[in-house]
Amino acid sequence: MGNRTEQSKGYIPQKTGNGCPAVIEMLKTGMVSCLLDEDLTFLWGNSSFFTGLGYTQEAFCSLFNNLRQYYAVIPDEFAFIRQKLTQALKKNCFDIEMNVRLPLKEGGFSWAHLYGTIKEDTAAGGMILLAELTDVGEFMVKQEEQERLCQQKLQYFQFMLDTYEGNVYVSDMDTYELLYVNQHTCDVLGEPAIKVLGHKCYEVIQGRTSPCPFCTNNKLTEDQFYEWEFKNPVLERTFRIKNRIINWEGRRARLELSYDMFSTEYKLAKKDQERDALIRSVPGGLARVDGRDMRTVLWYSGGFLDIIGYTKEQFEKELHSQCTYAHPDDIEHVDAVMEQSKKTGESTMLEGRIVTRDGISKILMLTYSYVSGEDSWDGIPSYYSVGVDVTAERMEQARQKRALEDACKAAQIANDAKTNFLSSMSHDIRTPMNAIIGMAVIAQANLQSPERIQDCLNKINVSSRHLLSLINEVLDMSKIESGKVDLLSEPVSLPELIEDVMDVFRPLAAEKHQELQINADHVRHENVVSDQGRLQQVLVNLLSNAVKYTPDGGSVGLRVRELPSFAKGRGQYEFIVTDNGIGMSEEYIPHIFEPFSRAEESKTKQIQGTGLGMAITQNIVRMMNGTIEVKSTLGVGSEFIVAVSFELCEEVDENTDELAGLPVLVVDDDQIICESAAEILDELGMRSSWVLSGKEAVRRVVDAHEAKDDFFAVILDWKMPEMGGLETLKVIRKQLGMDIPIIVISAYDYSDIEEEFWMAGADAFITKPLFKSKISRTFHQICQSGRSDAMAIPVEKACFSLDGKRILLVEDNQLNREIAAELLEMNGFLIDEAENGQLAVDMFKASAPGKYDCILMDIQMPVMDGYRAAETIRALNREDAGSVPILALTANAFATDIGKAHSAGMNDHVAKPIEVGRLLETLQRWIR
Ligand code: ADP
Repeated sequence: MGNRTEQSKGYIPQKTGNGCPAVIEMLKTGMVSCLLDEDLTFLWGNSSFFTGLGYTQEAFCSLFNNLRQYYAVIPDEFAFIRQKLTQALKKNCFDIEMNVRLPLKEGGFSWAHLYGTIKEDTAAGGMILLAELTDVGEFMVKQEEQERLCQQKLQYFQFMLDTYEGNVYVSDMDTYELLYVNQHTCDVLGEPAIKVLGHKCYEVIQGRTSPCPFCTNNKLTEDQFYEWEFKNPVLERTFRIKNRIINWEGRRARLELSYDMFSTEYKLAKKDQERDALIRSVPGGLARVDGRDMRTVLWYSGGFLDIIGYTKEQFEKELHSQCTYAHPDDIEHVDAVMEQSKKTGESTMLEGRIVTRDGISKILMLTYSYVSGEDSWDGIPSYYSVGVDVTAERMEQARQKRALEDACKAAQIANDAKTNFLSSMSHDIRTPMNAIIGMAVIAQANLQSPERIQDCLNKINVSSRHLLSLINEVLDMSKIESGKVDLLSEPVSLPELIEDVMDVFRPLAAEKHQELQINADHVRHENVVSDQGRLQQVLVNLLSNAVKYTPDGGSVGLRVRELPSFAKGRGQYEFIVTDNGIGMSEEYIPHIFEPFSRAEESKTKQIQGTGLGMAITQNIVRMMNGTIEVKSTLGVGSEFIVAVSFELCEEVDENTDELAGLPVLVVDDDQIICESAAEILDELGMRSSWVLSGKEAVRRVVDAHEAKDDFFAVILDWKMPEMGGLETLKVIRKQLGMDIPIIVISAYDYSDIEEEFWMAGADAFITKPLFKSKISRTFHQICQSGRSDAMAIPVEKACFSLDGKRILLVEDNQLNREIAAELLEMNGFLIDEAENGQLAVDMFKASAPGKYDCILMDIQMPVMDGYRAAETIRALNREDAGSVPILALTANAFATDIGKAHSAGMNDHVAKPIEVGRLLETLQRWIR
């Protein structure tokens, strides 16, 4: 406009015939000029102006001299234009703009937009208007139409508000004046609109004297409704209220819609609220599935997306809102259950699997409820479905089920085992009992025949021993199985342990003319920490079986091996027991460790046994954290390998200086023994060489002698094929005289052949296996005391006579006391008897010092038990109180009882019922 004004100001138009400047005449828009006098005298117009109105220039000019005349048909318009120009002049505003109507020649008018400039034109005689008219007819028609519609909408809006069944009011946001109230509000307030409009909203609606927080609520916006619930104290009704900011006739106003608790809307809204709460309380996902395709999810809520593992966008884009997340294998079943709900009208339930977006399979508890199209709010038949993730519960249930099944199976197995155990036990106990009772009856009936009685007593003896071992093993077994066995941790010398074990077996093997092979293989650490008794029990069980299940003349072997151990301070050992006996079938081997199990062969061959030894053995080995392995072939033989790791005792380094460099020859037909012995000799600093036969030995010894490099000693095996030990010894002595010490080694009891060997010139005996300590002790003795004194190795136990030794026997059970006394007296002892601990203490106190060589003390007794009696005796103030051997007589020979006996000051224990051999052996050990 500014430009236009500038141009207009400096522009002096060239007038055409009617006064219109030539350039303007050519313009396509209508241009007109008039004088600003009373009637707005017409000055000129361009062709476009005249043709736009339907006139020729001449016709127009002849009809109208001024605009008043031209606007004679619509004088209002002239007045409007006149007024605008007068106002502009008054304000010294020289640019003018307005929409004007232009009367047309053929009647009616058109709309035009007028841009005008007011300026002085002295030639024209004063102020003139120069105006450009553009046709805006169409625009104006539209604008008018819009205004009309707007007006109409406003009327409708007003109508709606008027007739709205709820309350509506509009109040000014700044002044709080009520601008509008609908009829319903008037009814609720009980006042006509006229009485409340213009008053403050808070006064009228709430009976307050100042604006309430709702009126000034900063959550109100123009974009959306803000909702809340409010109990109006004046009206005493609860309202659900919606507020938003609107423009009300140019004023910033607050529109409030509300309905109270008596209205249907209120109830519906409440129902919605309830439904939302219900949906929230469902512990899973909710979905509405289209009943027509049974696939499309029309709506979902709750944890639906969480359960299927999709976001809203992923669900829509990737699954197209279809329930294809269902596990393919379950779809058919799910469909059937949905159909069933449709058919019966009842809700149905199933457990189905789904696959989440991450490929995780979940188990859902699904319910379906069918709603037909007619009953549906939108006419679509659908299934409402609730899905609850029960994967964790099902997995836990499955785990518990498995655990229960396992426990049930284990209980069944244990029960079966117990039943078997009891029936086997009662059978196995009855059998020897039967023999004992039967034999006793037979003996009674044959009192006149001593041979018959002797035979019966022998059989009673055998059966009662068997019965005792059975009872011992059953008790041991049940004790081990109930976990009541404690293993002792005590220093164990392996050579001594093996010696003790062999002492038991040498006579047994000898009785069956069995060959014994006993080896120590690379045993570098001879002292370990273990439970001597239990370890011995393992070896005794294995060896007694080997002897028992090997026929006369067979061979039985024990090998102790130390393996390299990687754990510091520990040693790994193997005890290998072998035999070439009856062996076991492949079918039986897996059952060997079951209590009471016995192989068919052992039964048919009538070899006596309880079937408990191996079970006990395995339990002990397990308690030692070891393993036991069985290899056996029927008719060929068996091998048992017990592997166990022991803590090592600290070894005292022996002084081997005096043995350094001494040459020794080892002679044995077993190469392993030769190598093992050679290794030990080398470790002792000696020079070892070995040969496998007597002949070779003689040759080597003679060669060495001729080379003036005599052996310091020869270690010679007793039993060798071809040239035996005795013969070799004799030949060597014959050729070289008595110069070289010859040590005879033997796995057997050498007492029978001892004499013969001494005579032939043997210097010492060592029993197998060859432990380093044994060899070193023997050589030290040879070095220190000369050959002749080095005899009788190993140290023979002194055989004191027990004849006339006096024992105080303390036992409360009369029968037991009688038996014990009888057995002891039969062996030459003198016996004093006491019925309980207290009497024993009294008798000991009253006796002269040294009267008793030993006290045999029962444990469980009335008045005073054995532990207390031993403690009391040990505490007495007399010289023999501390030294008299007190041996516990106990029926409970378990580790804890033995420990208790020791703490009470007892020296040892003897298990009841008394086995004479063992009792005598123990007495011999303690009585000097
Ligand atoms: P038993 O008191 O019968 O010997 P065990 O528990 O010691 O009971 O052994 C169970 C069974 O294993 C034996 O009855 C026997 O059939 C078999 N058995 C054990 N050791 C041997 C062996 N060295 N040779 C052959 N069979 C054996």
